[in-house]
Amino acid sequence: MITKKLDTTKENIKIAAQIIKAGGIVAFPTETVYGLGADALNEIATSKIYEAKGRPSDNPMIVHISRIEELDLIATEISNTAKVLMEAFWPGPITFVLKKKECVPSVTTGGLNTVAVRMPSDKIARELIKESQTPIAAPSANLSGKASPTNAMDVLEDMDGRVDAVIMGKECQVGIESTVLDLTSDTPVILRPGYITKEEIDKVIKIKTEFDNSLFINPSEKDFHPKSPGMKYKHYAPKAEFKIVKGNGIGIDKVIKELRDKAENEGKKVEVLYYGEDSEKAAKTFFADLRRLDREDVDLIISASLKPEGLGFSVMNRMMKSAGYDIICVEEENDDSIS
Ligand code: AMP
Ligand code: MG
Repeated sequence: MITKKLDTTKENIKIAAQIIKAGGIVAFPTETVYGLGADALNEIATSKIYEAKGRPSDNPMIVHISRIEELDLIATEISNTAKVLMEAFWPGPITFVLKKKECVPSVTTGGLNTVAVRMPSDKIARELIKESQTPIAAPSANLSGKASPTNAMDVLEDMDGRVDAVIMGKECQVGIESTVLDLTSDTPVILRPGYITKEEIDKVIKIKTEFDNSLFINPSEKDFHPKSPGMKYKHYAPKAEFKIVKGNGIGIDKVIKELRDKAENEGKKVEVLYYGEDSEKAAKTFFADLRRLDREDVDLIISASLKPEGLGFSVMNRMMKSAGYDIICVEEENDDSIS
């Protein structure tokens, strides 16, 4: 298939919307990562997304809307808590899991009776949804298992020839996927941490949110049963070996240097990712960094852990998956390292 590369003109957004209406698939920018979209209510169209991505069919998609009125089309039993959260954070990088309406095909929701809904803030994304006159189901626009794309060139790397069109927008502002919050039980549960943090959510609602337990379990352990199907699959794996060095203080730099020197002496190409404590920057560039290091054929990636708080916690959720939980903890007192 020939993939149309569309600049972000009004005319081109209309062309992309025509493709969506006709049951095709289009990659488009959002403020989080690029999405691969299809008409959420057309099961033949959404099944094409699973095929293009090589995504397991039990991994549900997020359905994107451009106006609050579209929510009633696809979801039901919308609580007051949900309304307060939507008022506070939409449009923006947070997804709410709600009871689904009949019209949403089970292909879109991976067979679940719930639907994940988000109203993105990105102008192009909103215009595309509006012009398509239907909610758009869109997972991240990468091949399954690879890092989510945060710029149009990274989308093309995976999707050229596999999708009808790519809207060639700007680099994504946030850089990691949306927070996913399950609102189908009394306690709101964070299924996937994202740009909007637990602290921010807890400020606007009376009930305290909880993290899904599986966020703290290495997926290779046997009692790993995440509520969000997507969290159980291998994610963001770079070609290189990836080690995270965790701890605080000077010991970290020493351990990173030792790891780097040892690997370089073995003739390996090494890259150290430095984000310091800048979790905004880490969120914005981490996925693009992984893809660049794949292209550069790096053998070993080393990164210091970010403080697992707020946005740092969300970035670490991705980083730990990429590294296959290969974490070296640095003891503070004596700077010894233990694997
Ligand atoms: P992606 O679209 O690639 O950003 O992934 C979407 C994430 O949302 C995956 O982790 C899905 O498992 C999760 N998700 C989507 N729909 C639901 C749902 N109805 N219930 C729970 N998790 C969901
Ligand atoms: Mg994804």
